[in-house]
Amino acid sequence: MSLTTRILLAMGLGLLVGIVFKSVIAGGGEFGQWLQLYMVEGVFDVVGQIFVKSLKLLVVPLVLVSLICGSGALGEQGRVGPMAGKTVGLYLLTTCIAISFALLAATMINPGAGMDLPTASDYVAKEAPPFKQVLIDIFPSNPVASMSAGNMLQIIVFALLFGISMSRAGEAGKRLLSWFEDVNEVIMKMVMMLMNLAPYGVFCLLAKLFSGLGFDGIHKLAAYFFTVFGVLVLHGIVVYPTLLRIFGGLNPLIFLSKLRPLMMFAFSTSSSNASIPVTLRTAEERLGVDNRIASFTVPLGATINMDGTAVMQGVATVFIAQAYGLDIGLTGYLMVILTATMASIGTAGVPGVGLITLALVLEQAGLPVEGIALIIGVDRLLDMARTVVNVTGDSAVTAIVAKSEGALDKECFDSPAKPMADH
Ligand code: ASP
Repeated sequence: MSLTTRILLAMGLGLLVGIVFKSVIAGGGEFGQWLQLYMVEGVFDVVGQIFVKSLKLLVVPLVLVSLICGSGALGEQGRVGPMAGKTVGLYLLTTCIAISFALLAATMINPGAGMDLPTASDYVAKEAPPFKQVLIDIFPSNPVASMSAGNMLQIIVFALLFGISMSRAGEAGKRLLSWFEDVNEVIMKMVMMLMNLAPYGVFCLLAKLFSGLGFDGIHKLAAYFFTVFGVLVLHGIVVYPTLLRIFGGLNPLIFLSKLRPLMMFAFSTSSSNASIPVTLRTAEERLGVDNRIASFTVPLGATINMDGTAVMQGVATVFIAQAYGLDIGLTGYLMVILTATMASIGTAGVPGVGLITLALVLEQAGLPVEGIALIIGVDRLLDMARTVVNVTGDSAVTAIVAKSEGALDKECFDSPAKPMADH
C-alpha cells in the first residue's frame, strides 16, 4: 500500500474513532471516563504530540542546511536577487487574490446577516506585532538565538548570507559546501523515516481532535463555515491551477495529484511550519524543483504566504461586520486586504495563528475585536482546511519560480509520482 493510501486510511479511521469515542464519553459512565483518561488524553495525545514534535525537530536543521546548500549554488550564479523578488512578489499576489476573492464571496453570500449576537464574551484578543517591528525582526542579531527560537525568517537571512559567502570563499567554501551537502542528505533520510510513521501520528491526532470537537456551533455558523470552506476549495482548484498554467505552463492536475500526501500532513498537523520537511521533499522529489529554489521558497512561504488564512480573514471580517450591523465601506475593505497581506508576513505557520492576526485586521478595519468570539467555535476545523491551502500555495509558487529560473525538471514533474517513502 502506498504511503498516501495509508495516511488516508489513518485519517478516516482517526475521524471515525474520534466520533465514536466522543459519543461514548458524552454518555458518561466509567468506560467513557476510562477512554477519555487513557486513550484520548493518554495514548492519542502522547503519540500525536510526539509525531508533531518530531516533524518540528527537523525544521530548523533542514531549513538551515538545505538553504545553505541552495544559496551556495545560487550565489555563484548571482541569481539570488531576481529569484527572491519573484518569489516574494508571487506570494504577495496570491495572498491579495485570496483575500479579495474571500471578501467578494462573503459580500455576496452575506454569512453574518441576521446573527444573534452573544450578550457577553470572554474572548480576549492576543496582541499581533506592529508591522515596523515585524520588519526589524526579520534580521537576526544572534543566529543561535534565532535557531533556538525557530524564527524562520531570521534563519533564512542567516543561511542566505552564509551560503552566498561560502560560494565566494574559494576552496574552503567548496569543501564546506560538500560537507553541508552530505549533512543535507542525512537529514532528508530522517524526513523519510519519519514520514513512514505518519499514519500512526495522523491517526492519533485526528482521533484526539474529533473526540473533543464540538459540532454544536457549526449549524449556527454554517453560512460562515461553508463560505470559508467554499472559497478555500475554489482558491485551491481555480487560482493556483490558473497561475501554474499562465506563469509556468505546467499541468495543474499533475501538480494537485502530486501534492496529496503533503495536503494530508498539513490537514492533520494544522501547521505549515511543521509540514516544511514534507513540503520540501514534495517540491524536490515529486515536482522536480531544484534544491537551490525550493530550499528558499518553501521555508519562506511557510512563514509569509498564508493564502488560506487570508481567505478566512476576509470572510470573517465581512461576517463580523454584518453580525454587528456595521458597514466598513470600500476603504475598510482595502484596509483589510492590505493588513491581512502584511499581517501574514511576520507570523509563523502554526496552528491558530490566523485568529491572532485577525485581531489586527479587525482593528484596522474599525471592527470590534471581540467579534472573534463568534467564530472561534468552528476555527479548529477551518484551521486544518486553510493550512492545506497555505502549503498548496507555497508549492505552486515554488514550481512557478523554479520553472522561470530553469530549475524545474519537467520530466520529473510530468512523470507518475514516486512513492513518498522507502519501505
Ligand atoms: N495553521 C495555519 C498554518 O500553519 C495558520 C493559520 O491560519 O492559523 O499555515
